[in-house]
Amino acid sequence: MAKTKSPKFTTQFAKKFATQFAIEAPVTLLEGVGSKTAGALAKLNIHTLEDLFFYVPRRYEDRRKLTPLKNLIPGQNFCAIAKVIDCEIIHDRTEAVISDETNEIKIVWFTSKIGEFLSNGMNIALYGQASEFGGRIQVSHPKFEILRKNKSPTLIGNIVPIYSASSDITQNNIIKIINQALDYYSKDCLIEFLPQKILDKYGMMSFHDAIMEMHRPHDNSTFIRARNRLAFDELFLLQCGILLRRNFYLRFAKKSITIKPGKYYEAFQKSLKFEMTNAQKRVIKEIFKDLDNNSSMPMNRLLQGDVGSGKTLVAFSAILAAIDSGVQAAFMAPTEILAGQHFIKLQKSLEPLGLRAELLTGSLKQSEKNKILESLENGEINIIVGTHSIFAERVKFKELGLVIIDEQHRFGVLQRNALTSKGIAPHVLSMTATPIPRTIVMSVYGDLEVSVIDEMPPGRKKIKTISLFPQQFNELKKIIRQEISKNHQIYWVCPTIEEGERGLSAVTSRYDEITKLFPDVKIAMLHGQMSGDEKNNIMKNFSDGKIHMLISTIVIEVGVDVPNATLMIIEDAGQFGLAQLHQLRGRIGRGQAESTCVLLESAATTEEGHERISIMTKTSDGFELSEADLIQRGPGEVCGTHQHGVTDFRIADLVRDVKILKLAKNEANEIITQDPELTSETNLKKELLRRLANTLELAITA
Ligand code: ADP
Ligand code: MG
Repeated sequence: MAKTKSPKFTTQFAKKFATQFAIEAPVTLLEGVGSKTAGALAKLNIHTLEDLFFYVPRRYEDRRKLTPLKNLIPGQNFCAIAKVIDCEIIHDRTEAVISDETNEIKIVWFTSKIGEFLSNGMNIALYGQASEFGGRIQVSHPKFEILRKNKSPTLIGNIVPIYSASSDITQNNIIKIINQALDYYSKDCLIEFLPQKILDKYGMMSFHDAIMEMHRPHDNSTFIRARNRLAFDELFLLQCGILLRRNFYLRFAKKSITIKPGKYYEAFQKSLKFEMTNAQKRVIKEIFKDLDNNSSMPMNRLLQGDVGSGKTLVAFSAILAAIDSGVQAAFMAPTEILAGQHFIKLQKSLEPLGLRAELLTGSLKQSEKNKILESLENGEINIIVGTHSIFAERVKFKELGLVIIDEQHRFGVLQRNALTSKGIAPHVLSMTATPIPRTIVMSVYGDLEVSVIDEMPPGRKKIKTISLFPQQFNELKKIIRQEISKNHQIYWVCPTIEEGERGLSAVTSRYDEITKLFPDVKIAMLHGQMSGDEKNNIMKNFSDGKIHMLISTIVIEVGVDVPNATLMIIEDAGQFGLAQLHQLRGRIGRGQAESTCVLLESAATTEEGHERISIMTKTSDGFELSEADLIQRGPGEVCGTHQHGVTDFRIADLVRDVKILKLAKNEANEIITQDPELTSETNLKKELLRRLANTLELAITA
């Protein structure tokens, strides 16, 4: 239905947006949208016409089918057309009797106003819910519309969109505003940008029609076509963006460095006291293949492997190959403790070979730090270990060839951009125990390869996991005594440092109690408020077996590796998430001896906390746990991608739309390969720049 243009259109709209993207015009352009309404819309994240077009209904009500009045069922919604045969105003109520050929029923509205509109003999359309009153069907407060000749009803006969409203703006108001945007502006704003070839190939609906269909669906199959077209748009544009970003790197990055294993790598392999697992051997091969290539794309590989599967060794192998090839390496860990531990181990392997590793931490004296920075810049240091501080502005390398990011899920997915923006293109190996769904990896990184260690080192015993209540303290004491008598070591984890935070157990008071209970046992305390030196000292003494029991906060959560530790006690275990509990438990079971994990319940344990404890006692499989975690917390939390922006799709769903993602990937590949500047697809180019230029470096210009 053609509508005349609103007066505002010709004046403001045409003038103001002739040169810009019409779709980005502010909502205040619309009739009846002043600053107050605009404020209410802003709270719903609606600022522009585009936001309105993509404000898709929360659900739809199918009001296409009429129900004869004799078929009404209490509790069910219905649409009907009937004649008013009686209408009365009784105090503040309106009561009417309506009839079609099949039945007569009573309707009640709790206002007298309705009665002023209705009169006998009128035909009305109704939408409401039937109820039962005194054994008879009755309808309270239905929506209605008086039917006139030559005008089709709007209340029924179609599929009605239901939008999310708020306390500041009603559903009806939102519908009016969206309808105005659709009626007056959609043609000028929703300009087709997909290549004609793709539209033809898949018989796709136009951009304009797809948006219209989301708000005013015709039927199920047309609606699904519209939705899939819009989901394709988002995935296709992102894939194009990823390819254009790759082109950007190819054009502006230096040629990547060729790394090949040599004598240092061989010597390191010979020094190992055990044989690599087959999985370790396989992923090292995969990594070496990436490192030894002549293209300008540096390696970008994610190494996934459950807690304790031996990822560190794989990283060390890559580091030695880098040193063999005459370049430097950097090893980044999320905590100082873990960085410290990696450093000590690396040093043990490198020193005999005459190689130099250094640890860069916040607790170094300025003069010491300066010395390290200097040696790093003139190439005397082969490998630098630290937290993300190793990528601070001042740190310069002679030639950085390889970066290891341990526990990469702790850093967020954009870390790599931070590196490349420094003008260097080293190979990057990220490591994680968190399995990231394949589809998300594909769409977020695009050029990321994945290696998986799916095998544990031999001889590992299953970790026994039990839960105990505070009343069972004697049992716990027995378990502790047993492990001490075998010369094994123990972690005891508390949620907080000091008592009083939400009634949770604290490291300091537990330390006092336990030292009294076990006067003969060497016990130490560890938490985040200690200095880096103190922490590393204690960790070293624990590693060396000089401390038997470590009472700690979760600073030991990730990565720490002391194979002689066989007992992990976690207080208020219900406080921790599943991923955290799995990481904590992963600190034990690293040697040949039997290990036990004791999860303590407390008065603070919630229903969900109890559920998590119970899941932990049943499974030790990281993948199973991360699935359970996904259900409890949602995918964004698990992958750390929620702050990313690129995957904030309005229509597409990475889990549901795997097939569409695949098509989108193929089509994007074809287009960008054939026409990397997009000279023959100007609309696509414009839309890409408009939607993605803020988040990705695209190798195209307007
Ligand atoms: P994660 O994958 O959690 O980082 P680590 O790399 O810390 O695991 O390895 C866990 C433990 O397993 C370490 O003590 C390590 O020395 C040992 N380990 C690694 N690979 C093997 C192997 N092939 N055989 C025996 N022990 C191994
Ligand atoms: Mg590790």
